[in-house]
Amino acid sequence: MPCVHCGFCLPACPTYVRLGDENDSPRGRLYLMQAVVEGRLSPESDAFQTHIDRCLGCRACEPVCPSGVEYGVLLEAARETVYRARKAPAVVAMLLAVFSSRALTNWSMRVARVVRALGLGGLVARRIPRNRLFHPIRFGLAMLEASRERQFGSETATSSGAPIASDGGALDAATSEGETSESAPAWRAGERGRVAILRGCVQAGLFARVNDATERVLRANGYEVIEVSGQGCCGALHTHAGDSMRARKLARANVKALAAAEVDFVAVNAAGCGAALKEYGHLLEADEEYRHTAEALAASTRDISELLAGDSLRVGAPLPVRVTYDAACHLCHAQGVRQEPLAVLGAIPQLVVLPLQDAEECCGGAGTYGITHPELGGDIGADKVSAVLATGAEIVATGNPGCMMQIGAGLLLEGSDVVARHPVELLDESYRRAGFYDGS
Ligand code: SF4
Ligand code: SF4
Repeated sequence: MPCVHCGFCLPACPTYVRLGDENDSPRGRLYLMQAVVEGRLSPESDAFQTHIDRCLGCRACEPVCPSGVEYGVLLEAARETVYRARKAPAVVAMLLAVFSSRALTNWSMRVARVVRALGLGGLVARRIPRNRLFHPIRFGLAMLEASRERQFGSETATSSGAPIASDGGALDAATSEGETSESAPAWRAGERGRVAILRGCVQAGLFARVNDATERVLRANGYEVIEVSGQGCCGALHTHAGDSMRARKLARANVKALAAAEVDFVAVNAAGCGAALKEYGHLLEADEEYRHTAEALAASTRDISELLAGDSLRVGAPLPVRVTYDAACHLCHAQGVRQEPLAVLGAIPQLVVLPLQDAEECCGGAGTYGITHPELGGDIGADKVSAVLATGAEIVATGNPGCMMQIGAGLLLEGSDVVARHPVELLDESYRRAGFYDGS
C-alpha cells in the first residue's frame, strides 16, 4: 500500500521524536527511498545514507499506519541499497563476518564467555572514559557483562494489592497471591506436539540458560522438544544491515535443518530471530528450491510466549519479585505479540508486574545501533533505563537477548542492581520451586 503522507506515524518514531527532522521520520525516509527508486537521488548521497542508517528498524511506524505501509520490508530493500553503495563501518563489517561463519561465531562466543567469567567486562567498562572514541568498547563490554546470570535482587518483594499489567490493567487471576501449582493442568509428555528450539548464535553463546529454560518449560507444558543440529544464526543482523546475500545463505541452512526435523512448531525465544524466521518466506521468495519450505517453516514459527500462553499454561510456585515488562520491538511491532509474554508472567504467583512507561518504545539496541550510534542510541537507551528505574522494579523482563544486553548495560553503567531477564527464565524458576522438574 502506498504512503498517503498523513503523518500518523511521526509521533510513534523514536528518531523523529528526538531529532524533529522530517528526514528522520518514517514518512521522510519513505520519500527518500522513493527518490532513489525514481533516480532523483543517488544511493551514495549523504542524505540517503545518513537517514536510512539512522533508522532503528524498530517498526513502531507500522501498526499505527492507516494505509498498511509495510515499512519493514521497504527498509530492508533500502538497507540493501545502502550496503551496496557504501562500505559498512568496520565494527559492523566485522560482526557480519563473524556471525556468517559458525566457526568464527563459536570461537568469538568462547572468548566472550571467558572475558565474562573473569568479570573483566563490568570492571573495564566502568573505568573506560565516556566518549565517542571509546564508546564501542565501553558499551560492548557492559553488554557482555549484562548477559551474565545475576540474582533476582532481594527476592523479598511481596504483592501489595492486585498485580497490574504493563498497560495498568489487572492481570489474570493466576497471579493472585496464594494460588499454587496444584491448580495447574498436568500434561502427558509430548501430547501437545513436537517442537524444535531455534538455538541462535548469541543466544546459544551467551544465553544458553534461556535456551535451557525454554526447553524445560515447554516439556512441563506438554511439548516434546526435538534437538536439531545444523541450525545456526538466523541472519537477522545481516538482513537489518543490508547484507541480504549472507542473510539468505544463513536462512537456507536453517530452513534445511529445521524442515528436516518435521516438527509441529519452531519455538524462538529471541524476538529479532523470531521475526526473521517468520519472514523467511519473503527473504527466499525468489529461490525456487527453498521458497515453499521457507514459507512452511515461517508458518510454524512461534515466539515461546505464543506456545505457552492460554488456559493450558501451568501455574508455578510463588516468586515474590517486582518485575517490569519491556516489549521488544520485534515482538510487539514486527510479530504483533503483546499479551502473551504478560500471560507467561501471569502464571507466576506473587510476581508483581509494574507498568513501564513507553514499554513498546525501542530501547536503542536495534542490532548494532547501540554501538554504532552512541549519541542517539545512547539517548534512547537512557530514556528506557530511566523508565525502568522509575518503576521501582528489581527485574526488567524482555523477550530479546539484544534488549536484555542493551538495557542491562545501561543499568549497569548507571550503577543499578536491576537485572534484565527473559520472561521464560522467571517462569522456569517458578516451575523449579514448584517441583515440576523433580525426578526429571
Ligand atoms: S507511512 Fe503510513 S502513517 Fe506514515 S505518513 Fe505514510 S501513510 Fe501516513
Ligand atoms: S522503524 Fe522505527 S526508527 Fe525507523 S522510521 Fe519506523 S518508527 Fe522510525
